[in-house]
Amino acid sequence: MGSDASLDSLKTKLLTIHHLKNASAVLSWDQETYMPSGGGPARAEQIATLQTLAHEAFISPETEKLLGTWVDIPTGQLLEKARTTLAKSSQALIKEIWRDFNHASKLPSAFVNTLERECSLAQQVWTEARKKNDFSLFLPNLRTVVTLKLEETQYLGYSDSPYDALLDEFEPGSTVEQLKPLVGTLRPRLVSLLQHVLNSSIKPKTSLLTQSFAHAAQLEFGETVLRKMGYEFDRGRLDQSAHPFTTSFHPNDVRVTTRVFEQDFQSCLFSCIHEGGHGLYEQGLLPEHYGTPLGEAVSLGIHESQSRLWENAVGRSRPFWKHFFPLAQSVFPEQFGNTAFDEFYLAINHVQPSLVRVEADELTYNLHIMVRFEIELDLIEGRTRVEDLPEVWNQKMQDYLGITPDRNTNGVLQDVHWSFGAFGYFPTYTLGNLYASMFYEQAKQEIPNLERGIAEGNLLPLKEWLNQKIHRWGRQYSPEELVRRVTGQDLSPEPFLNYLEHKFGDLYDFSIKPET
Ligand code: ZN
Repeated sequence: MGSDASLDSLKTKLLTIHHLKNASAVLSWDQETYMPSGGGPARAEQIATLQTLAHEAFISPETEKLLGTWVDIPTGQLLEKARTTLAKSSQALIKEIWRDFNHASKLPSAFVNTLERECSLAQQVWTEARKKNDFSLFLPNLRTVVTLKLEETQYLGYSDSPYDALLDEFEPGSTVEQLKPLVGTLRPRLVSLLQHVLNSSIKPKTSLLTQSFAHAAQLEFGETVLRKMGYEFDRGRLDQSAHPFTTSFHPNDVRVTTRVFEQDFQSCLFSCIHEGGHGLYEQGLLPEHYGTPLGEAVSLGIHESQSRLWENAVGRSRPFWKHFFPLAQSVFPEQFGNTAFDEFYLAINHVQPSLVRVEADELTYNLHIMVRFEIELDLIEGRTRVEDLPEVWNQKMQDYLGITPDRNTNGVLQDVHWSFGAFGYFPTYTLGNLYASMFYEQAKQEIPNLERGIAEGNLLPLKEWLNQKIHRWGRQYSPEELVRRVTGQDLSPEPFLNYLEHKFGDLYDFSIKPET
């Protein structure tokens, strides 16, 4: 549509803002990968300056004026002119720009400054408190952050729960009302499934995976898998960092990281696959939408669905290892040369309740998330006091996983999220797992002989299916709409639970009767 050209001045404005944001992202990536430690304080200021410039340009009267020709700024309703002259995708574009603008301009800059300062302080104190295993050190800072986040919900507005306002930042459209029944279905079935596994007489030989594996060989194996997944190295890099992550400066310049522990076969490899899933999403966004919401991932939950799909549904599957285990045997002949396939496959899928979320297996992982979701919901809705968190945490761990943290470092102090105010973030991990199962089920129906191909090392049909069905759309559809478009269904925990019950029933030799 020719008239969409009239959006050009708005797009140009957004593009310059995006350049600032991406320059800042390059600095952050460098900080986590190559920057010498002495560069820290100067880098923090450089990043803060770029972010402030981007924020100010975005909420400027100029942006408001350009946006205001298409949308009623106070309500977000598209104007007649937008409804009659713009293509559907451009209408979606305007709505998403408004969403960001509205969010950014609802928070007074004095409040944003206070929040940022307090969070940065809280994060430093958290690091110290975690090291010293001293929750009381962190308590006053956490109390301040919670108070500020409650203030933020007042600025942002909500209809049911203040938690909805926070959740919406990470997973647009998601609500407590939607999450509660999901958690209500997941929790008892996961707890029961875990009991079945623990009662099984089958005991995986996990020592296979904690032999010594040479650093360089691990990296090379991880890179081989990434290439097979279709991650393009002329449009992306793989580097190392303390905590694996993915970032992107453009669909043609994506960065993933991993880390290597010599005594751990899984960490480097599964970080490569997990971050590779995120990386494929970023490489699959369309360059022509760069700088606009249509060129951005739709939500954290959908992003996580891509990483989990590759990491678990593919990377921990029998077909995947049919192809890659012989390769692993040739790279690590001393470690795996005499190992039987089934022995390896069971080890790579072993289930063991553990205290630390980031080390959790596929089954117990969501129980860790539930502990966090329930606690932060109670905090934000005012049913739990900050000072009671260690006790509440430990009780929930005992109730759901059957283990109690030996110290707060391995309990309430383990995650960084709350220290920087990311309340409402945790549920996106579980949503990601649920979406991943729905997408993978659909892919199996639509791609002929998908798993036979995977067993031959042919991962590209899946990558291309995800490109077409999910990646290329950016933020054109809400997460809810996207899931319905791809699968024809609404979000449901059933595909995920069925997948787990079958997989682990098979591995640990038990069967769970379908509920009547
Ligand atoms: Zn992830």
